[in-house]
Amino acid sequence: MDYKEVNLVNANKFFTEHLNKKLLKPIKIVEKDSDPLMKAIGWFLGALRINTRFMSSYITTIGNTIYFPKELMSTINPKRFMETIIHETVHVLDAQENKLIYKPSYLPELFLGLPLLILSIILFALKYWIIGIVAILLALVCILPTPKFGRYHWEMRAYAVSLLIARDADHDEWFITQLKSWIKGQLKTSHYYFTMPIESFYKDEDFDKYISQIPIKEEIKSFLKNDFINL
Ligand SMILES: [Zn+2]
Repeated sequence: MDYKEVNLVNANKFFTEHLNKKLLKPIKIVEKDSDPLMKAIGWFLGALRINTRFMSSYITTIGNTIYFPKELMSTINPKRFMETIIHETVHVLDAQENKLIYKPSYLPELFLGLPLLILSIILFALKYWIIGIVAILLALVCILPTPKFGRYHWEMRAYAVSLLIARDADHDEWFITQLKSWIKGQLKTSHYYFTMPIESFYKDEDFDKYISQIPIKEEIKSFLKNDFINL
């Protein structure tokens, strides 16, 4: 079997035999390159030079669908693939359990900033200057790269999976420390639109807290122990 086949067998086994009861709707993995919505978003991000690697290097999850770049599915090794799939699964479960707050807290730029911006334009047109100014200031707080606690929280929950898997595989402390710096590097920089640039949010206790809160810890361990196929 090649990487792609093994990766899909692993993911399918994890979803159907380990997660079954936790999911309200099954998770689907779709090739990102063949999806019209993803192509449109990829074109938009590329045209504005916001992200030129959205289609080739980024895994995107919306609802219960994980959009995975086709090429990457055949080249990523099974361990990395499953780590990514489990990361995305934590997002799916969190979105499922926190229906109202997940999206606006994960992406306030779009779900709060944009509506507030439109509202402020309407208020200015109606000459409600004071609340118009309040609305535009709130919109700017959402849209500009100010710290976004919500996205930090959801991503730390999902990235804690990588730390759990590394510990489960008995990696040494040096490796774990590197992994923590890498996660911090993702969330502090442009990769995640400067989600949380404040250093004190990345203490060892913070990572430990998020590892202890992983919602599917036993399922992950049991899958890796009993069903994971490596190549
Ligand atoms: Zn994530």
